[in-house]
Amino acid sequence: MKKQVFAVASSIVLASSIAIPTFAAGNHPGTPEQQTYNSSGWTDYAQLTKKLEQIEKSSQGTVQVDVVGQSNKGLDIYQARVGHGDKVILIESEIHGNEKTGTEAILNLLSYLGSSNSPHAQKIREEVTLVTLPKMNPDASELDRRGNDMSWSEVVEDFPQLAEAGGPTWNYYTDPNIQGDDYAANPGFDVNRDFNPNLDYVPEAEDVPGSSTQPGWYITPEAQTVRDVYKNLQNEFGTVDVFIDLHHQGLYYVDGTSDPVTLSLSGQFVPDPNSEEGSKYSEYADNYDFDYSRQLNVAAYDALQEMGNSPFDNITLYRQGLDLPGTALGSFALNGSGTVLFEVTGQTQSLGQKKKGMLVKAVETGLRGIIEGVAEDTVEDVNPEEYEEIPETAYSPSL
Ligand SMILES: [Zn+2]
Repeated sequence: MKKQVFAVASSIVLASSIAIPTFAAGNHPGTPEQQTYNSSGWTDYAQLTKKLEQIEKSSQGTVQVDVVGQSNKGLDIYQARVGHGDKVILIESEIHGNEKTGTEAILNLLSYLGSSNSPHAQKIREEVTLVTLPKMNPDASELDRRGNDMSWSEVVEDFPQLAEAGGPTWNYYTDPNIQGDDYAANPGFDVNRDFNPNLDYVPEAEDVPGSSTQPGWYITPEAQTVRDVYKNLQNEFGTVDVFIDLHHQGLYYVDGTSDPVTLSLSGQFVPDPNSEEGSKYSEYADNYDFDYSRQLNVAAYDALQEMGNSPFDNITLYRQGLDLPGTALGSFALNGSGTVLFEVTGQTQSLGQKKKGMLVKAVETGLRGIIEGVAEDTVEDVNPEEYEEIPETAYSPSL
C-alpha cells in the first residue's frame, strides 16, 4: 500500500516538474527538497515550555500563555497571545518540525512586546492582538523531522468511518528515508496538507484518496488544534485579519544572480476564487482578498530591504500559481485572512551560529514589518502591484 501511495505522489511530481530538476512543483509550498537540518542550537520543547513561562511571568500578564491542544503523542500545544487591539494576527511556526527559525523569531517578538514600555510596543499592543503558535507540531519538533508522529491505524481509531476508505491519504509518510528520517519505523503525516477551507469538515471515506490540489481532512490533532484556534478567533473578532506561516526551504538564488536567497515570501496558495481557474472555490469568493495578502508581503519585503545590503536584501517571491487548499495558508486565505508564507533558506546543518542568528533576524524583521504595518494602518496604503516586483526565485545560480 505504501508503495502505491508514493508512486501516485511521485507521478504527480513528475508530471508537473518542468523547470525544477529534483522534487518539485505539485507539492509546494514546503516540499522537503534539498533540506537537511541540525536541531542543535534551537529551542527544543522543554526549553520552549520554560521560556514561555518566563516570558509570561516577566511580562506581568501582558503575554498570556495557554495550552490549546495536544499533539498525537500527547504533548501540549502552546499559544502565546499579546496585545488587545481589534486587528488579529495569527502566526504559526514548526508545522514542519525541522523548520525552526520562526520559533526563535516569535520568542524574540513576545519578549519585546511583553516587556517593552516604548511607545512603539505600546502602539502595537493597543492596535493588534498577536496570537502565536510557536511550535504547533511538537512531536515532529522533538523528532526534528517534517511529518508528525501518527499511524494510519491511529487515524482510523479516531475516525472509524475511514476503516473502509481504501488506504492512507497521499500525504502519509512511510518511506525509510525522507530528509534522512526513517518513517518506516515511525510513520507520520505532512500536517501542512491536512487543512480544509471548510472549517467544519468531517472526514469521509470517499474523500480519502487525494493529491495536493484537493483539500485536506483534519485527521491530525495538530491541524485540528490550529483550526480550532482559528475558529475561536473568528468568533471573537469576526475575521482573522492576518495569518502567517513560518517555514524553511532549500538553497535557491535570487533570479538573474548567483546570490543565495535568504528568504522567500508569498501570498498566493490557491487560484483566485473570482477567476475561472479558481471557480471550484467560488463559495469563498467574497472572503478572498489577494490584494491584502500582497500588501502584507510587500510590508515584510520593504522592512527587510531597509536592513540594507545582502543578505537581508536577498529576498525573493516564492513560486506562484499554486493550488494547495490543504495547506493552512490556502485554507485560511479562502476564509478571508491576508496570508504570508516565509520560507527561510535551509541547509542549516552546514551553517554556524552566526548564520542561524542572521536567519532568525530576517524572519523577525519581516514579521515586524507586517505587525507595524497593520498596527499603524500603513499596509492599506501599499500598492499591491509592488508584490509583482519582488525578484523571482531561481533554482540554479546565474553564472
Ligand atoms: Zn515547511
